[in-house]
Amino acid sequence: MTAAGFRGHLLPVMDFSEDQIRRYARHILLPEIGGIGQARLLASRVLVVGAGGLGSPALLYLAAAGVGTIGLIDDDVVDLSNLQRQIAHDTAALGRPKVESAAERIRALNPDVTVEPHRARLDATNALDLVSRYDLVLDGSDNFATRFLVADACHLAGRTLVSAAVLRFEGQLATFKSHLGPPHPCYRCLHPTPPPPGLVPTCAEAGVFGAVTGVLGALQVTEALKELAGIGEGLSGRLILWDALSASFRTVRLRRDPACALCGENPTIRDLSAHATVPEPACPA
Ligand code: ZN
Repeated sequence: MTAAGFRGHLLPVMDFSEDQIRRYARHILLPEIGGIGQARLLASRVLVVGAGGLGSPALLYLAAAGVGTIGLIDDDVVDLSNLQRQIAHDTAALGRPKVESAAERIRALNPDVTVEPHRARLDATNALDLVSRYDLVLDGSDNFATRFLVADACHLAGRTLVSAAVLRFEGQLATFKSHLGPPHPCYRCLHPTPPPPGLVPTCAEAGVFGAVTGVLGALQVTEALKELAGIGEGLSGRLILWDALSASFRTVRLRRDPACALCGENPTIRDLSAHATVPEPACPA
């Protein structure tokens, strides 16, 4: 279909350029998205925590989809060992800050997108303010200190969180919107407290199959776009587990815990003061 042919599918209030109609043609064709859904995406603000293995595909798909403002926070530089999976960066970017390298790729991919790079580490002093500036957060970090910090900040700031994790050949994915109240669980309903340091190996210690991070990052964006466009069945209250070696997906039910310290009936976590100002260093996913 030509760009002009799409005009008939759009409401007159949609002020898309010809280029935008062509760029987002395959979205606009979908009845669930259409011109209204695409306009919603263009008006959306999404924060991606970590420009690593999960963040790389997530950032690229968010940009390609036309999410209007993409924030990314990461304090790391591109290392040769990252390039096996962190596809937002290339060999020429070795030694450069990941937020710079990824921001360049995003701008080159889609000039409609405003990129907000934050070269910093998310910590107790900046998390709430940063999270509050976006509609939705994708957690692509892979250390428990940051995961718990992001989860607490999203609940306290009233933001939806799409969280993923990868290790070796396995991945997990869930959406948390506990700020909306029952029956939505939070991350702490699943994991009340971080595991003791050293109990769960990191990707640097145990390895990770590169494409597994790509699949989970793309699944995160899929769920994020569904939330932003208000379509489909969300993933709140469910956890997807994928084992690449056996090629099997499982979905398990997550329940809100009335005794949860964050979202329970008598919450004890009311701010981020229990979090370290600077979380411990960890390997990028
Ligand atoms: Zn909870």
